[in-house]
Amino acid sequence: MNSFSKFSEIREGYRSKKFSPVEVTQFYLDQIKKSKHNAYLDICEDRVLDQAKKVEKIIFSDKDAFEKYPLLGMPMGIKDLLNIDGVKTTCASKMLENYVAPYTATCVERLEKAGALSLGKLNLDEFAMGSSNENSAFGPVEHPTHPERVPGGSSGGSATAVGADLCLTSLGTDTGGSIRLPASFCGVVGYKPTYGRVSRFGVVAFASSLDQVGPFAKTVEDAALVAEVMSGKDIYDSTSSSESVGAWSSEISKPMDWKSLKVGVPKEYFVEGVEDSVRKSVEESLRWFESKGATLVDISLPHTEYAVSTYYVVAVSEASSNLARFDGVRFGTRPDGANESATLDEFYEKVRSQFGAEVKRRIILGTYALSSGYYDAYYSKACKVRRLIRNDFDEAFKKVDVIAGPVAPTVAFKRGAMLENPLQMYLMDIFTIPASLSGLPALSVPCGTQEDGLSIGLHLIGSPFADEKVLKVAHHFQKERYHG
Ligand code: GLN
Repeated sequence: MNSFSKFSEIREGYRSKKFSPVEVTQFYLDQIKKSKHNAYLDICEDRVLDQAKKVEKIIFSDKDAFEKYPLLGMPMGIKDLLNIDGVKTTCASKMLENYVAPYTATCVERLEKAGALSLGKLNLDEFAMGSSNENSAFGPVEHPTHPERVPGGSSGGSATAVGADLCLTSLGTDTGGSIRLPASFCGVVGYKPTYGRVSRFGVVAFASSLDQVGPFAKTVEDAALVAEVMSGKDIYDSTSSSESVGAWSSEISKPMDWKSLKVGVPKEYFVEGVEDSVRKSVEESLRWFESKGATLVDISLPHTEYAVSTYYVVAVSEASSNLARFDGVRFGTRPDGANESATLDEFYEKVRSQFGAEVKRRIILGTYALSSGYYDAYYSKACKVRRLIRNDFDEAFKKVDVIAGPVAPTVAFKRGAMLENPLQMYLMDIFTIPASLSGLPALSVPCGTQEDGLSIGLHLIGSPFADEKVLKVAHHFQKERYHG
């Protein structure tokens, strides 16, 4: 069996009995076992083979199976920040090394109900904090094609797994860019829906006002299909939106009216520090839009320069609060010797020292920013700047339909290159963070490679709940530009 590039190929194979769901599952399990990428933290072998057998029965017994179950037999990987009942959720942290989830995240449950097969749990930066997947307590993830490079983070396992054919689609989470950055680095599609589109129930919280689940796939069409199935109101997450979810995967393939499309080009996204190869690929993509009849509109997002600092106040503050529950009492492993502690302080010290350096750094920063007397100076101020950043987008979307630019200033960098310099690493998210702070739908779609084969992603951002529009533009870009 050869690797697949889109779900329709697999579905056709099932329909024509060329292969079965169990065979496809076995193919991916073999691929995972052979791989050296360290993309998976746990393989759900028995569970997924059971699922595949059930899918097989449905296909045999129900002639309308594929209409009823839109993801029937779709091989999928799940970021290990999302719960699956009875399976470990480690968040790539020693703190949760042995934690077994007692329920399934709503998004995973919806996908499985639609027939998706969960192959296993994917590696990430510890608690989704990072941009290179080097912060995992269980070792870094390799880039799918360039082993000495990082896959990006924090959903590095999810991006590598799709790029290296260790699943067909995967789920990641994006708090400040963790879906789009690794998608860009690994040459796959990564889509962050509008904040609130996908329920966060069963997703371990990092920064609750920013966290959003989204799919990785090789095609925009598959990403749209997965997103469509898992989006929508969930009574278990009061921030999930009741905004209606369209038939995105079919709607986006309708013809594109290029002549009426206005693409905003923010001058703040084409600044010094953006690598030449990245700038060139993105500019060529913009010219391609123009050649199809779209209008490019110069826009300005003047508060972009404050986005990273704003994010690193908001995100770390919320993280310090969310991660307080890992105290060895409510949640979190008690390491050897913790029970023999003479004082409560000693107990806490032993338990909390299980966090890795980056997580500790953020808890300390966040606790500081939220402490009495500083709240107004930091968190509350950051929330005000966040509003200004969102206002920039609101102004821009009065004039344009989508905004286009680079996902990151560079291509995938070498492992270890930024470990000594967290601030430099934080700047990797300079173009993804503004959309996160503003809750906007945004995605990365491959738009070129450097001479050495490293991928470059085009970043498309839409107005709130304009998910379908963003997906549609990206789909036509990918299909018409690369597949004729
Ligand atoms: N790289 C950013 C951070 O470290 C974003 C992470 C994310 O989106 N989960 O916080």
